[in-house]
Amino acid sequence: MNAPRLSNHLRLLFILAVLAPCAVLAFLSIRSIDREEAFLEKRLQGALDAEVSHAVSLIREDLGRVQDDLTAGAPSDVGADPRAALAAWKKAAPLVGVPFLLSSDFRILWPTRDAYLAQDDLAFLNWNRDFVTDAKATPIYQNVALLYKDRIPAPVGAQAAAPAAPETGSGNKEAKPKTQDFRVEQQALAEFELSDSARKRVYDEAARQGQKAVSRTVSPQAGLPAKPAAAESRAESIYISEPRKFSEIIAGREAGLIPRFIDDKLSLLFWKRLASGRIVGCVADDAAVRSRILVRLPDVVSQGRILTVLDENGRPLVSPSGQDSRDWRRPLVAREVSETLPRWEVAAYPTDPGAMASQVRATRLMMAVLILALFAVIAAAGAWILHTLQSEMILARQKTTFVTNVSHELKTPLTSIRMFSEMLKEGRQPDPAKQRAYLGLMAAETGRLTRLINNVLDFSKMEKGKRAYARKRLDAGVLVEAIVESECVRLEHDGFAVFFANAAGPAPVEADEEALEQAVLNLLSNAEKYSAGTKRIEVEIGRADGRIRIDVKDRGIGIPAAEASKIFREFYRVDRTLAAPVSGSGLGLTIARRIARDQGGDVEYRPREGGGSVFRITLPEAAKREAKAEAKP
Ligand code: ADP
Repeated sequence: MNAPRLSNHLRLLFILAVLAPCAVLAFLSIRSIDREEAFLEKRLQGALDAEVSHAVSLIREDLGRVQDDLTAGAPSDVGADPRAALAAWKKAAPLVGVPFLLSSDFRILWPTRDAYLAQDDLAFLNWNRDFVTDAKATPIYQNVALLYKDRIPAPVGAQAAAPAAPETGSGNKEAKPKTQDFRVEQQALAEFELSDSARKRVYDEAARQGQKAVSRTVSPQAGLPAKPAAAESRAESIYISEPRKFSEIIAGREAGLIPRFIDDKLSLLFWKRLASGRIVGCVADDAAVRSRILVRLPDVVSQGRILTVLDENGRPLVSPSGQDSRDWRRPLVAREVSETLPRWEVAAYPTDPGAMASQVRATRLMMAVLILALFAVIAAAGAWILHTLQSEMILARQKTTFVTNVSHELKTPLTSIRMFSEMLKEGRQPDPAKQRAYLGLMAAETGRLTRLINNVLDFSKMEKGKRAYARKRLDAGVLVEAIVESECVRLEHDGFAVFFANAAGPAPVEADEEALEQAVLNLLSNAEKYSAGTKRIEVEIGRADGRIRIDVKDRGIGIPAAEASKIFREFYRVDRTLAAPVSGSGLGLTIARRIARDQGGDVEYRPREGGGSVFRITLPEAAKREAKAEAKP
């Protein structure tokens, strides 16, 4: 039996050719979702980073303008009455908080203790006197990456990308090195941001020089599953502080803004050198500075993100409503604003931090469902193909066996016919009774041959749907009794006990006589073939539920329960081996059932109590139909 082994090969082939690639594809798609998640995060971070950088440059620009405005508005000389000039300046410029005037040797000319002073002026003196009189230093903030840019190795290929400026004319001489400086600075900043080792070198150098890193107000990326090391290093400030005296800061410059932390609050000190050598300046008005910065800021909430500026205490300058519970110190992306506003940051947050995660979860779920559905479809289709292939193979095998069986079936009766006919021809049997018996046997064998040939021919006709029936009203009881009688002699000769009983009396049916006879003969022939020990055949006619029943019962080998549903299939035989003790075509029951069904009835099998089989033909009783037809008119 090769068929099952072959189908195992097919199964293996199916797994290798279809399921295995599917599993690989599924694995790859799940992995690609993970990548997609990282990619989405990176993309969001990238987009926010661009916005934050843009906001930072806007604020820086604005700080420059704040300084320019203050420089332009400051009195060019204050003359004898500084008080009036400074008051006029303060009145004209909203950015001016508390104005002051210093002599060229850093003495405070205004506000002075001997005058009547406002609260603000007193506070100014309290907090700034030591610094502006050059008595004490104040921490000055510097960008560590720019300060030690020579410690940052240029990225590979950067030298080629930034060619040295050709010195073509005196006009260009100044401009080109500046451009180059700018490029080097940008490169250093970019490298500082990207490379952990560059950052480490720079901070190490700053520490060696005794400079202190400013602590940042935020720890960006805290909400992301980024590498902790990267998160920590990003949380280090790019600014370092170093104490400097006022005289050192203003040396060689005309004007400037100095950030000072007073009571942990940032205040900006503006100064400008006058032609007389005096220094005029002011503490910038905090509210005015903040509102100047806010005006330039892009929309705080847009497209799923919040963008705001955090002050030195990590509090947002502006925050959208309903965000009070947000932890502002944990933005997704943040950048420090400027050395003029140390500890200030522009920070961006996703409006709904869980949105991305749930989007990824939904995608993953959808993908899993799709993959499962795909698997189910492929598995079902594969199973169907395998099943079809297997059935086809079994059928092909059955057809081959069928040819062998039919040849064998043809040969056996032909051999006996030939043997008996030769014997009679040569006159080797003088006993007339025996001669008759031989002739009877020959007739029976011829009948068997005819039945077999009819079965094969009818089957092929039925297959093509070409079998025509000449249906007529007949008495099934009478027909079956005649068949049993004609078969009885031969069967009894072979040792069978044959019984016929008609419990129905007249059993009228509408059927093709020849076809019905063929069906009954097929069942009788099976009862004969498959009776090994007890050779007893009972044929009974009965009636139930308006149907005529023809039962053919034997005490033969019976049919295993697992096979019972298959025996009516074409070419199907319980013992499919070529060495089966009983030969057959596997068509007898197929044809019997087809005939019965074509007459409006059926053939069914039931195991017989006490061993053996019962095959039952049921046909609609004709009398009732006629009775109805008669009742009509
Ligand atoms: P076959 O030519 O093999 O007899 P059939 O279609 O008539 O073909 O029967 C199909 C199979 O059903 C047989 O091969 C046999 O195994 C089983 N079968 C049919 N009739 C009987 C019976 N009366 N007793 C036992 N087995 C039977």
